Amino acid sequence: MNENKNPVLSVVVPAYNEGPALAEAAGQFRLALEASDIAYELIFVDDGSEDDTWTQIMGLAREDERVAGVKLSKNFGKEGAILAGLAHARGKACALIDCDLQHPPEMLAQMYHIWRAGGTDIVEGIKNSRGKEPILYTFFSNLFYFLIGRTGNVQLKNASDFQLLDRRVVDIIINLPERQRFFRALSSWVGFNRKQVRYDVKPRLSGKSKFTGIRSTQYALNNIASFSSAPLQVVTITGVIFLLFFLGLGIHTFARWLTGTAVEGFTTVILLLLIIGAMLMISLGVIGFYVGKIYEELKGRPAYLVEDRVNVQGE
Ligand code: UDP
Ligand code: MG
Repeated sequence: MNENKNPVLSVVVPAYNEGPALAEAAGQFRLALEASDIAYELIFVDDGSEDDTWTQIMGLAREDERVAGVKLSKNFGKEGAILAGLAHARGKACALIDCDLQHPPEMLAQMYHIWRAGGTDIVEGIKNSRGKEPILYTFFSNLFYFLIGRTGNVQLKNASDFQLLDRRVVDIIINLPERQRFFRALSSWVGFNRKQVRYDVKPRLSGKSKFTGIRSTQYALNNIASFSSAPLQVVTITGVIFLLFFLGLGIHTFARWLTGTAVEGFTTVILLLLIIGAMLMISLGVIGFYVGKIYEELKGRPAYLVEDRVNVQGE
């Protein structure tokens, strides 16, 4: 069925409810790749869309065997979709690009040529500007990058999922034993030879971003937890600070008892109880979060399940 035997570049496109933008996006990707004479395959991963995304992908795949599709059994999230795409890619290099055309397709060729010239395993797209985002969003995403940069030892500010990876890096990432993969951080963590290209984030072609409010927060917390255990150390450090404080307060209280002026101070007692109570619960929450992560990893459920495929082989 598949005559496009030896793609050099696999372009992986996660798509969740991107029906209205899909045909336009596919057209632009193909145009950009064909202009540079690249032997490519385009792999769309339908991440459990509720709209006509999969029908569109099948339509495109029927017309052109260089377009392939993987349909996941439900919405597994962008990380799951990326992984599914990489696992089905056959190219000597894989590029990742968003379906909403926020990543400029013409840069694909530029990234490809950098890789083709040799000596580069990862070409990463770095955002020049982050496009239009609400101020609060910018604040929290800066906080997130600061935390993960400090604690997880990966520099992610202005990094994006718009990257091109050599086959050997792709193989490493898809074969990692961990279940909760945070692609952007992993591709930084693996090391290897990397080059950066800068691009401007464009506005979304249509529809709304899938990462809003709660989803972004969950995404941030999960990824911090999957890349660093620093929050656990913060619990210990807070405990030590409190211990020092309590030592001082203890001596003070004892001295007052000795001098016979120890009855007052009820407010202090209440405040202390409240603070300690809150600290204990937060600490338990942090520990609980990690225990939950360990539990999830231990169960070893796959990061995605495939329901259907088109123009692509799979187990
Ligand atoms: N996406 C996905 N699964 C999800 C959420 C998003 O595959 O659960 C895809 C989406 O279709 C798009 C890309 O990931 O191609 C980036 O998503 P989006 O544009 O919503 O995020 P943003 O650009 O705001 O970070
Ligand atoms: Mg987007």
